[in-house]
Amino acid sequence: MKGVAWGAATDRGRLRVVNEDAMLASPPMFVVADGMGGHAAGDVASHIAIDTLVELVGRGPITMQDVIDAVAEANRAIVHVATSDEARAGMGTTVTGLALVVAGGTEHWMVFNVGDSRVYRLADGEFRQITVDHSEAQELVVAGQLTSEEARHYERRNVVTRSLGSEPDEQLDSWIFPPVSGERFLVCSDGLTGEVRDEVLEVTLQSIADPQAAAEALVAEAIEAGGTDNITVLVVDGGQMDADDPLDDDTIPRGLRAR
Ligand code: MN
Repeated sequence: MKGVAWGAATDRGRLRVVNEDAMLASPPMFVVADGMGGHAAGDVASHIAIDTLVELVGRGPITMQDVIDAVAEANRAIVHVATSDEARAGMGTTVTGLALVVAGGTEHWMVFNVGDSRVYRLADGEFRQITVDHSEAQELVVAGQLTSEEARHYERRNVVTRSLGSEPDEQLDSWIFPPVSGERFLVCSDGLTGEVRDEVLEVTLQSIADPQAAAEALVAEAIEAGGTDNITVLVVDGGQMDADDPLDDDTIPRGLRAR
């Protein structure tokens, strides 16, 4: 795939002393990890996750299984530190992202998630949350006891039901997409989605073409809205499937073709 472009921005927000989020934005990996645990242990957990996943960068084509294995390895490493260092007991992290993988001989986007960071996809004019939060709030939404909007203000909204660092064999959710021209992905920690409604995320992603400017604008919106948590945002523009001929049919807007 050619022409993949991205922007990345992070901020500790207005209230937190430490930024316990960590991120990786280097093809084929675009990942956000939101660490949890007192005394900066969350910072340790999120960085172990990123330091493990960065090993998938620069070694040639990767598969879904490579990503699944790397997340499992990160989980084992965090569990090991959390159980052998008393000061870091109970630490954990979300790990959520986008990977360019080879499946069936061609490149695909793999979306993966453990925890309550999120991936959204903007394609063909439709903005949709791909990942499903592993959180108490999400369980209540599924049970019909909270609306999505109420879930954003739910007092136990920080309680996650899956994370790296708690169970020896934590499972990730994954999705796979054939690339579509013009698509854009958003990968973010809950410091963004806890402050900014999906409708506003969509307007910002639709209106700012440059991915770095879009990422910075989203972080600024979260700070403006309260900034109660660390905020991390990756905006990834998918590029073109058929890079051989940039003027092939797929790249001509539908409206022009009709004339
Ligand atoms: Mn967070």
